[in-house]
Amino acid sequence: MTLKYVATTCPYCGTGCSFNLVVQDGKVVGTAPYRRSPVNEGKVCPKGTYAHEFVNSPDRLTKPLIKKDGKFVEATWDEAYDLIAQKFKSYKPDEFAALASARVSNEENYLLMKFTRGVMKSRHIDHCARLCHASTVAGLAASFGSGAMTNSIGDIAESKCVFILGSNTFEQHPLIGRRVMQAKKNGAKIIYADPRYTATAKQADLYMPFVSGSDVAILNCMMQEIIKNGWEDKEFIANRTKDYEKLKEVVMKDTYSLENVSKISGIPAESLKTAAEWFGTAESAALLYSMGITQHTVGVDNVRSTANLQMLTGNLGKRGGGVNALRGQNNVQGACDMGALPVVFTGYQKVIDESAHKKFADAWGFPDGICEPKNGYEVTVMMDVLTDNPGELKAMYIMGENPMLSDPDLTHVKHAIESLEFLVVQDIFLTETAELADVVLPAACYAERDGTQTSTERRVQMWRKAQDPPGEAKVDWQIISELAAKMGYADQFPYQSAEEIFDEMAAVTPSYHGMNYERLNRPEALHWPCPAVDHPGTPILHIGKFSHPDGMGVFAPLEWKPPAEVPDAEYPFVLTTGRVLWHWHTGTMTRRSATLDHEVPTGWIEINPEDAQALGIKDKEMIRAITRRGSVDVPARVTRDIMKGVMFMPFHFKECAANVLTNNALDPVAKIPEFKACAVKVEKI
Ligand code: SF4
Repeated sequence: MTLKYVATTCPYCGTGCSFNLVVQDGKVVGTAPYRRSPVNEGKVCPKGTYAHEFVNSPDRLTKPLIKKDGKFVEATWDEAYDLIAQKFKSYKPDEFAALASARVSNEENYLLMKFTRGVMKSRHIDHCARLCHASTVAGLAASFGSGAMTNSIGDIAESKCVFILGSNTFEQHPLIGRRVMQAKKNGAKIIYADPRYTATAKQADLYMPFVSGSDVAILNCMMQEIIKNGWEDKEFIANRTKDYEKLKEVVMKDTYSLENVSKISGIPAESLKTAAEWFGTAESAALLYSMGITQHTVGVDNVRSTANLQMLTGNLGKRGGGVNALRGQNNVQGACDMGALPVVFTGYQKVIDESAHKKFADAWGFPDGICEPKNGYEVTVMMDVLTDNPGELKAMYIMGENPMLSDPDLTHVKHAIESLEFLVVQDIFLTETAELADVVLPAACYAERDGTQTSTERRVQMWRKAQDPPGEAKVDWQIISELAAKMGYADQFPYQSAEEIFDEMAAVTPSYHGMNYERLNRPEALHWPCPAVDHPGTPILHIGKFSHPDGMGVFAPLEWKPPAEVPDAEYPFVLTTGRVLWHWHTGTMTRRSATLDHEVPTGWIEINPEDAQALGIKDKEMIRAITRRGSVDVPARVTRDIMKGVMFMPFHFKECAANVLTNNALDPVAKIPEFKACAVKVEKI
């Protein structure tokens, strides 16, 4: 028997914990602590502990599949490539769209972006950041000039006040929750605002349940109190920011008084006052948020409002402060960095910027050029175009994403995907989306490849291969390269290793210029921006100046606006959705992990006992949840953990899929859907 330990990075959340995969006779059989990681110091949450269990699941895809007469038939790689190449070549550039993946490596996101813009010459590439943090990318870029988490995870432990808004950190980013606890042990006050009394709420010094969708009102109110009491950082505002008077004009309105915002949000005025005082007077204060902030039709406003609060209190460019946007998926930051977005190449170089466009066209060397220098469609817009404008988009290549469970209004999504003429899905399991494909390509999982990912704190970390992929499955970069070669572009895709792809990407990406595998192959790795090989990386952004050309941060005067759909006589409750500790997103991996699935085998809807009593609903009773998009039968969980008038569903479970119910109303800038608030009714069945 041979046994070895291979240090790698967790495939679940954006924290970026490292652990060892235990490999026995060539097969991954367990995990073990990797204590040298400065991120998690050898500790992991349950998902990390059992991250080996799905790797050798009997459900893994092992051969290419081609659909014939409505049924999948096993095929050779050559048969699959020939069919895909022949079909893809038959489409005009913008009839093709691609979805990259926050689950695969930087190298593979870069390569699918190059394939889409170079081989297919299409403008349309996006990925699931559209569903989670598109508003962060747009909002923080507008305020600071850079759309990413400003500080680092370890830094949170140094904060004297931590305000967590719209993030169940202790369940969704448990090893970041650990840093919050370290801050608390060091004397920090913890403020938590969320419609649910979660595991995070239990650790807070001040818990503020609020009506989903009132974030800007809450933040404006806190800023009003801070200004009224003279707790703002006058020197920081004067020297490092613009448009403060415009902000002040809005936040000082009577609309945002303690009493009025208490009515809007449901938070007692006294709690709002305490939160403003603790935050405004702390020597350093960190703000943590996640999708409770971003997944709204006002997602960008919400994000900019958090930026306003941190500029007002001077909590940027310093330890223990920051706007800490906790990214969801392990590599959602990296997929954005790699230009798997419809408006940018790598490192947020704009597609419409002619010099950036020329730079990539020259670097890639496609003899017939690349896509036009125009923005493409976001994934949410792609779905609307497919249903509303038949024939405009005809073919799609989806790598490692599952929109048939992750996107809002699933009936609409199914209709959209079924409108395609030709769909290729590349994944590790036959997902709900893969079931609708014409061709399915079997891919390697995180344990079967070398590569890099970029965590929520902009730390670029290594994945290391621990076992071979099952059957004939291949790593994604190899599949994309072989397909590109079949389509006549072997010279542009000559790669023999992930490292070669990384080096090509780093050469055209200023924030990654100074990185290479040698420098990354150590526990602490590197945070971007890292512009030169002798640069140490940047754990804290905006020290001394912001990333805008003039170095200034920009305040945004923002009025509170209600969600697109609010309760009424017919649909009298607010529905909000989220995740649980034991599962990850569409459950593709965690529901194939026996231990995790055993802990939480199915979904539920949370109802406050007063609402349940009025409706005659008992705990565990099967009920029907109905919105204007559809209905779902789901067990009731009657609990005081959810505030009266609000209901909550986790979105992991296909048998009671919350996203049948959610609203695909979009933020006008980020095009992110409003998962966090829609109107719902429930009925006994
Ligand atoms: Fe993995 Fe996130 Fe858990 Fe760390 S906190 S082990 S990265 S799921």
